[in-house]
Amino acid sequence: TAQWLKDRVAVVTGAGSGIGKAAAIRLAEHGARVCLVDLTERRAGDVKRDIEAAGGEAIVVDTDVSDPARVQAAIEQTVRTWGKLDIVFANAGINGIVTPIEDMSPEEWDHTLTTNLKGTFLAVKFAIPHMKEKGGSIVITSSINGNRKFSGFGMSAYSTSKAGQMAFGKMAALELARYKIRVNIICPGAIKTNINENTQQTPELDKIKIPVNYPEGSQPLEHHAGSPEQVADLVLFLASDYSSHITGTEVFIDGAESLL
Ligand code: NAD
Repeated sequence: TAQWLKDRVAVVTGAGSGIGKAAAIRLAEHGARVCLVDLTERRAGDVKRDIEAAGGEAIVVDTDVSDPARVQAAIEQTVRTWGKLDIVFANAGINGIVTPIEDMSPEEWDHTLTTNLKGTFLAVKFAIPHMKEKGGSIVITSSINGNRKFSGFGMSAYSTSKAGQMAFGKMAALELARYKIRVNIICPGAIKTNINENTQQTPELDKIKIPVNYPEGSQPLEHHAGSPEQVADLVLFLASDYSSHITGTEVFIDGAESLL
């Protein structure tokens, strides 16, 4: 196959599972060397082995994306290993607490916002010094729940973090255009991943739910949730030179779920 990302260097956060894993594998298939960032080395280590078995190159750095020093260290380790940085996929995220606002503790709110929103800011911030000389591409994973579909009852912290990522991504696109750094935001609908592992639904949720008139997760295009590999194809496109005139925009990838 043609290699769209030959000799490029990428950092992918949340690379141990789901969308991040599929994207890391897809970028590597296209010639990128990939730094796999995740909370623990365990799952990212499996992804590294998959990439290497297919002839690619990867390193693993276990990092909490909300920790500034560790995010900076992960990016610097990538640059030390391969000499540069071209692509950042700021993707790590959690659903976190799913509960009515009146029952949500400030600490639970902070945990979701810190992981999803501050984590995105940190990955972009610490990448800039390494990308500003020659340009690059940054892709941020938001969600249809941040801007077009708000039927996830109890997900006020999550939706706020996803809307924040959208605003931040656009500001970053504007600010970094002078360096030829493109920044785009992807908004998946339901995708089959392990995200429910990082979801805490509380019984209080029943107090605020109202019936919606379509089956949860239904997507007109395929009548089921999308796959991480379908999202990875979009990330590949936005990371590559085939999207060279696209910056500061959001791309929905939801099989029209958010139009229902
Ligand atoms: P996932 O749980 O399968 O993968 C997320 C990965 O991020 C996990 O490996 C997890 O360990 C890692 N992670 C979580 N917190 C972290 C932290 N603090 N530091 C470093 N790594 C951390 O879930 P996914 O569905 O692949 O989620 C990826 C992104 O996609 C998230 O931003 C999520 O909000 C977004 N998204 C998912 C869906 C969906 O339906 N699955 C829909 C829209 C948006």
